[in-house]
Amino acid sequence: MAYKQDTICVQAGYEPKNGEPRVVPIVQSTTFAYETSQGMGDLFDLKADGFFYSRLANPTVACVEKKINELEGGVGAMLCASGQSATMSAICNIVHAGQHVVCSSAVYGGTFNLLYVTLKQLGIDSTFVSPDCTEEELEAAFKPETRLVFGESVSNPSLNVLDFEKFVGAAHRHGVPCAVDNTFPTPINCRPFEYGVDIVTHSTTKYMDGHACVLGGVVVDSGNFDWMANADKFPMLTTPDESYHGLVYAKAFGKAAYITKARVHLMRDMGMMMSPNSAFLLNLGLETLALRMERHNSNALALAGALRENKNVAWVNYPALSGDKEYEKCMKYMNGKPCGVISFGVKGGRAAAEKFMGALKLARIVTHVADARTCVLHPASSTHRQMDDEQLINCGIRPEMVRFSCGIENIEDIKRDVFDALATL
Ligand SMILES: *Cc1c(COP(=O)(O)O)cnc(C)c1O
Repeated sequence: MAYKQDTICVQAGYEPKNGEPRVVPIVQSTTFAYETSQGMGDLFDLKADGFFYSRLANPTVACVEKKINELEGGVGAMLCASGQSATMSAICNIVHAGQHVVCSSAVYGGTFNLLYVTLKQLGIDSTFVSPDCTEEELEAAFKPETRLVFGESVSNPSLNVLDFEKFVGAAHRHGVPCAVDNTFPTPINCRPFEYGVDIVTHSTTKYMDGHACVLGGVVVDSGNFDWMANADKFPMLTTPDESYHGLVYAKAFGKAAYITKARVHLMRDMGMMMSPNSAFLLNLGLETLALRMERHNSNALALAGALRENKNVAWVNYPALSGDKEYEKCMKYMNGKPCGVISFGVKGGRAAAEKFMGALKLARIVTHVADARTCVLHPASSTHRQMDDEQLINCGIRPEMVRFSCGIENIEDIKRDVFDALATL
C-alpha cells in the first residue's frame, strides 16, 4: 500500500480483523500467555515472532512503531520512554567504549550532554563540528575509531538546517552510518532517508504527540546501511551474539539487523520501553500530525515575516524566510517547511526580552516547544541562566533571543499577542 503521509498518519499501524476494536486497544499487560514452554522458548531464541514481555514489545506500542516507521519510510522502528533514551539507544547500539562519534555542534542540549558528559564517562568519545564547517574541517574530525555521524535535521534551538549531502557523504566515505534527529521537521516536512541518512531518531514528546501530554522517543532504521560491507567496524552486528546462541544479526535479520538488535539487545538489557498508555496517547497525536504541521508551518512563516517588519525586533531566524542563511537548504531538503519554531531578538537586549515575555498573554512561558499551544522561552533567563552575556554569545545564544513556538491557534490572535507585547517596549 502506498498511501500518502496524511493518510498514513490516520490509518497505518493497525488493521482490525472482523469484530475487533476499531481503535488501537491499550494492551495493559506485561505478559502474554502460551500453551507450551517450547512455544515461548522459540520466542526467546528469536525463532518465532510474538509478544512475551512488554519490556521488549507490546501490541499497542508495536502499532505505533509501525505507523512511525511508515511515515519515515524505514524497515523498523523502536519506541522508547523519552527522546533522550532514543538518542542513547541509537548511539549505543553500534558505538562502544574506545570508539568515537562525530556530531554537529548544533544539537539539542540534552544530546550534547549525553555525548559530552555521560557517554564520555562510559568511554565513548565525541568531536563536535560546526554545522557550517567545510568538507575539509568535517573530514578532519574523523578518527580510525569513528563509528557514527550525528546531526539534527533542524536544530533545537539554533534552527540550523543540516547539510545532509555533506554529513551523509562524509559518513559513508568513512564506512559509518549517519543518524539524524528529525524531531523538529517531523516526517511530514522532511524524510531524511531520502537524502541517504541511515538512522532517524525523534523526541515524540514534541510535534508527534503535539499536545504536551506524553514523553517519548523513537529510533527508525532505514535498512540501507551495509553492515556486512563494513564488518570489521561493526562486529556486534556481524559476528555471533553469545546471548542468543551465536546468532549473527546481519545474517539472521538482513536489512533489519540494526533495529532488531536495538530491541532484543539494548531494550532487553536497559529497558527504556514506552508504556502502552503512552503509545495510545502518542497515536492520537499522530493521527492529526499532518494537519497540525501544515498550520504550524504557515503560522510560523506568517509571524516570522511580520516580525521582520517590526521596529522593536532586531533580527529574526526562520529557515523558510527568504534571505535567512538556512533558506536554500530549507528549500532543498524540506520544501520550505522546517517547523513551527522561530527565534528572534528583541531590541534592547536581555531586559527588553524579559519585559516582552512578561507582557505576552496567549503565548505562555514554558520549558517546551512544538505543541499545539503557542509557547515561548527566553533561553538567557531559563535554560542558559548560569551563563553571562559573553558566554551566551559564544555558544550561539544571544541575551535578547526569544525562542517562539507557534501553535495551531488562529494566526491573527498569535500576531496580536506578540505585537501588543512588543508595543509595551
Ligand atoms: C526535546 C528533544 C530531545 C529530547 O527528548 P525528550 O523527549 O525530552 O527526552 C531530543 N532532541 C530534540 C531535537 C528535542 O527537541
